[in-house]
Amino acid sequence: MRIVLLGPPGAGKGTQAQRLTHWLRVPHLSTGDMLREAIRHETEVGRQAEPHMKSGRLVPDALVQQLVVDRIAQDDCVGGCLLDGFPRTAPQAKMLDEHLAERGMALDVVIKIDVDDNVLLSRLAGRGRLDDDAAVIAQRLQQYEQLTRPLADYYRSRGILREIDGLGTPDEVFNRIMAKIEAAKPAANSRV
Ligand code: ADP
Repeated sequence: MRIVLLGPPGAGKGTQAQRLTHWLRVPHLSTGDMLREAIRHETEVGRQAEPHMKSGRLVPDALVQQLVVDRIAQDDCVGGCLLDGFPRTAPQAKMLDEHLAERGMALDVVIKIDVDDNVLLSRLAGRGRLDDDAAVIAQRLQQYEQLTRPLADYYRSRGILREIDGLGTPDEVFNRIMAKIEAAKPAANSRV
């Protein structure tokens, strides 16, 4: 299956992605992790992405798109993948659809994890990551509202959006997600 995890920073996408990737046995593709790794290795992509990430802005579409295209082309993604943190803008979503369609593939389900803003703020303040100071957190939430939240409508109109309440223990949230995915699984005799 090809699954996208959508949700604001602090919604728990990373935590749920780890559980999902074990359960579904598909690779976990986190653009945030890929970008942090690029910065660590001081690659050209990392050098270009770093100032955007530090200030809480999204990095330019072209940079992440290339990372994702290269990663999806690898053998382990043939049977499916879990996209965490991508797409985050309308152009990224369009590019992903086109890229998959060219390969005769499509997204099966988009899971949107919803969490109240006050809970997000308290979760993010406790993480201690380089992009977690108050001004940067505010900027990241604003970027989500402006650029990423509209993707929900796009996927809803295609009938593949499933919304999950992100409040509760990680296991409770995971159970909700599993139920939605089970219901969305393609029939055994249709496409993988
Ligand atoms: P979180 O899970 O807290 O939302 P991520 O680890 O997914 O954070 O992403 C951290 C940062 O990496 C983002 O704030 C953004 O600057 C950059 N980033 C990650 N994915 C994308 C993307 N698809 N498009 C643009 N920027 C991205």
